[in-house]
Formats: sequence, structure tokens, C-alpha cells
Amino acid sequence: MSKESPAAKKDPSNWFDEIIRPGEDEVVSFQISESYLGAPIKLPIHIWRGERKGPTVLVTAAIHGDELNGTGTIRHIISEQPFDLEAGTLVLVPVVNLIGFQSRSRLLPDGHDLNRHFPGSPDGGTASRIAHCFFEQVVKRSDYCIDLHTTAAGRAAFPCVRADMSNEKVAGIARSVGTEFIIDCKAPKGTLRTSASNIGCATILFEAGEALKLDSDVLEYTLLGIESCLIHLRMVSGKVKKPAYHIETSETQWVRTTKGGFLDFHVAPGDLVKQGEPIATSTDLVGDDPHPIKAPRDGFVLGMTTLPTVAPGDAVCHLAYPSRNELRKIARACERLSEESLHERMRNDLARGTVMTESTNDVEG
Ligand SMILES: [Zn+2]
Repeated sequence: MSKESPAAKKDPSNWFDEIIRPGEDEVVSFQISESYLGAPIKLPIHIWRGERKGPTVLVTAAIHGDELNGTGTIRHIISEQPFDLEAGTLVLVPVVNLIGFQSRSRLLPDGHDLNRHFPGSPDGGTASRIAHCFFEQVVKRSDYCIDLHTTAAGRAAFPCVRADMSNEKVAGIARSVGTEFIIDCKAPKGTLRTSASNIGCATILFEAGEALKLDSDVLEYTLLGIESCLIHLRMVSGKVKKPAYHIETSETQWVRTTKGGFLDFHVAPGDLVKQGEPIATSTDLVGDDPHPIKAPRDGFVLGMTTLPTVAPGDAVCHLAYPSRNELRKIARACERLSEESLHERMRNDLARGTVMTESTNDVEG
């Protein structure tokens, strides 16, 4: 383990023997593993320094190798520099899980989830060694981390931040991103979010969109969120992003089907649902034997499966349960939104992954 003092480890000038001065930006890399051919696998990182002193903010993507929206967003920041970085250091990692990314897979080839092996160990399995290397070389040097994800393959998610809101430093950056929803929850053991936050690198998870896709509206939404966080940390000038509404909740549920079949979808991520309202209806292959899957409570659709085929127990819809008052607030806010607003564009994009139909009233629950 590193014996460096906290001050030394957070010196933002020296990255793998490259000196990057205030106002400069540079791509650096370090070896994180080796391929089956014995060749080094080097992780590219873009370091961007503001003129003034400030915090070091790490933005990571594709820790699950098939979740590409974050990769696209980070590439956009590197190539376009869409804001002026005035203070601090921005550490941009387009792909953390390079090996999974190569095979368009969430996991490593041995089936391990890199995001369950932090902070890792130099003597462990492949996932644990990669996690250790990344944690020691990059995470320990950072004050904050925004970890960019999509949902798992075959699902679509409305943008939200997952954060442990009992941690004041975490809560501050979680709110600054300006998502409509913050899911207040502790992360599982071994995640980057838990391990980094435990050593004082306040980390939030930003989740939006679908795996194996790069969506322009999700990219725009993610970019605005990162910029807003940097404004909050006084690294960039401007005003923090104001969401259309703001909900913090820890109550969420995946609604599962009890019957196999082919799905007709009736709602999409970003919709409000009433208790008892059909979310989707499964039928057999010729459209008979309809079985509606109903909302257990009034809620907000955070995510949906995009796979039309389901077996009993499959998760169909991810609902959040804000209070009745908050649900009314969302409804009022949505009425005021134009079709051109980012919120509505996101909603329309995410609905496009499925065929939406009206639910019929002649089905038996
Ligand atoms: Zn993920």
C-alpha cells in the first residue's frame, strides 16, 4: 500500500513522470494489466489543469465495459473543451474496464465485475489487481469522483444520481449535478463509490441511458451535469444547473412479472404512474392470454427493460416512490416543459427503445 502523505499523493503536477503545469492538459497512461499475448494494457487518462489551485475531480466511465454514454461524454470534453477550466485538476478516464470494453462486455473475461473489487489487492485475481492499480494510481489522488454508468444491457434508465446523502461532501456534489432524481443509498461493498468515499474521495454514481449506445441527449445531459458540478466546486464559472424538479428518495423497487411472454409497453422512463395502472402487458406469441403488470404504488418510472421477452421473475420496470406531494410537484413541473426541453427529449429518446401501446381495459389482473 502507498505510504505517501496525503499532501504528496494529491500533488496534481506529476502524473506518471509527466509534469503537467497549471493551464496545461495532457494525455498520460500507465499499465493496468497485460493481454493474453503478454502485451501491456495501458490505461489512457486525460489530465486537464486550471490556472488556479483547486480540487482534483476524477470522472470515470465504462467501469462496466459496455456502458458507453460516459465514454462518449468524456471524449467530447477532451476534444471540445466545452467549458473553461479555471481552477483545480480534471482527471478524465474514458474507459476504466479496458478489457471488458474490448469485448463489449460489462464484466471481465473471467466473469468478475470490476466494480465489486475495489479497493483491490496487488495479489488478488485479475479484477482485484486492476482495481488496486487504478485505486492507488488515480483514485487516491482525487478529492471527488463522478462515476458514469448506464443501466445494464437490455434496460433504459432516466438520468439519476446515486449517492450516500448522509455524507455531507458526497451530498454537496450529488445535488450540484442537477439531476431531477437522487437515489439516496449506500453502494454495495467493493464498488468504486464505496471504496473511494471511504478514503475521502467523495464519489457519486451518475446513471443514464442504455448500454452499448451513445445517445446525443444523454451525452448533453451528462455534460451539463459534470459542468454544473465543476461550477459548484468553483473550478468553472457559471451557474449550477437547475433541474426541472428535484427529488431525493431512497424508496425504489424493480417490478417483476409473474408470467412469461411477449411484452407490450405502456409507460417509459420519465413517466408518472398511478397505483394499479398497467406498466406493461405480457401475452403469448399470438397475442392471447394477456397479463398486465401493474404499478404497486403511485410512482415515477426510473427505468424499464427494453427486452420484449420475459420469463417469470424478470424485472420489467424500475419505480421510484417519492411522496404524494413530490409526485404532484413532478406532474406540475412536467406540464410546464416544452417538447424541446432536455427532460422531454430524454424521455422521448428512452421510449424509442420499445414499442409503446395503450393498455386495454378488458384484461384481467
Ligand atoms: Zn454500470
